[in-house]
Amino acid sequence: MHSDDHDRLYLSPPHLGRHELNYLHKAIEDNWVAPVGPNLDGFERDLCQYTGAKYAVALSSGTAAIHLGLLLLGVGPGDEVIVPSFTFVATANPVRYVGAEPVFVDSEASTWNLCPERLREALDERRRLGKQVKAIIVVHLYGMPARLTEILAVAAEYGVPVLEDAAEALGARYHGRPLGAFGALSVLSFNGNKIITTSGGGALLTDNGDWARQARFLATQARDAAPYYQHSVQGYNYRLSNLLAGIGRGQMELIEDRVKRRREIYAQYCELLQPLEAVQVGPAEPADTRANRWLTTLLLRPTYTERTPEDLRLHLETRNIESRPLWKPLHLQPLFAAVPMYGGPLSADLFARGLCLPSGSAMTDADVRRVVQALREML
Ligand SMILES: *Cc1c(COP(=O)(O)O)cnc(C)c1O
Repeated sequence: MHSDDHDRLYLSPPHLGRHELNYLHKAIEDNWVAPVGPNLDGFERDLCQYTGAKYAVALSSGTAAIHLGLLLLGVGPGDEVIVPSFTFVATANPVRYVGAEPVFVDSEASTWNLCPERLREALDERRRLGKQVKAIIVVHLYGMPARLTEILAVAAEYGVPVLEDAAEALGARYHGRPLGAFGALSVLSFNGNKIITTSGGGALLTDNGDWARQARFLATQARDAAPYYQHSVQGYNYRLSNLLAGIGRGQMELIEDRVKRRREIYAQYCELLQPLEAVQVGPAEPADTRANRWLTTLLLRPTYTERTPEDLRLHLETRNIESRPLWKPLHLQPLFAAVPMYGGPLSADLFARGLCLPSGSAMTDADVRRVVQALREML
């Protein structure tokens, strides 16, 4: 870091507490510097306890967790997987790792997540076309719970399992229950910018003991039970290190504080930006849900301003403040140019009008005011 950017405000930097070092120390003292050890077991226990999932398998990334999740669901060459278009590319890439193809579905306006009606249309048409839809991936973008009741009902009606990408959503709740335990398999990410971090890491959660065992097996090179190295199926090197799991344990002690602070930051942005008609902070929480507010997001209202999100982003940059456009929908990505899309205008509009604001849990109230001041200068 340069000395002249000491006051740079980042979008969502890591926020460590006091206990991570203790776990790291102990691991090094005891020589558990491996993808196995007490921190790994402890971190997995913490994740189960927090989410209510029966089993957690800590992995090297959320992307690896999605990959293994698709393998466990038997997704393979020739199959299709439904993926929301409005998400980070890591949700969709693993579909191709297993030789399948994604089918994209648009968002709905209340949560910006997978639209249950478009989902039904997609399932209906793929069935009529004779396609094998083997899984539905549901994402809780920016920590806002998707409309799970409707989505799970449609999925059940068509008999397609749901893989929950909760990478951005640890700490959020839906109808009183934590996200991360709603899918047949659920995925978390502990990447450096997520609500808690292990620098890099992820987890696969499930209530199915066979799947959990299988995930551990596949994540450690799929070694058969033999005294020598024998392999009958293709495996991966996807296990989280015991050192990083130690950071995860320290972070899990803080998760409730972190969610609380992110929600406060969101509320402050809402209040301070309320007088500006040109922006709309949101989406608002539907009844009986708790968003973790991983990132505070806003939409510009073209009726009230000609500014674009890029104008705002560049202006914030001159004030040494990082911001970022909303995820560019996957159906607009060159990588997925030929992929079928159900709907499309909603996510395209969000992308055209949206911006993510600095939201890290270490931000002070003064930092939030500084961002708001910079936004005011433009609007
Ligand atoms: C971060 C993220 C992932 C991938 O997680 P990694 O740990 O970075 O591999 C997947 N899906 C979404 C929605 C994410 O935000």
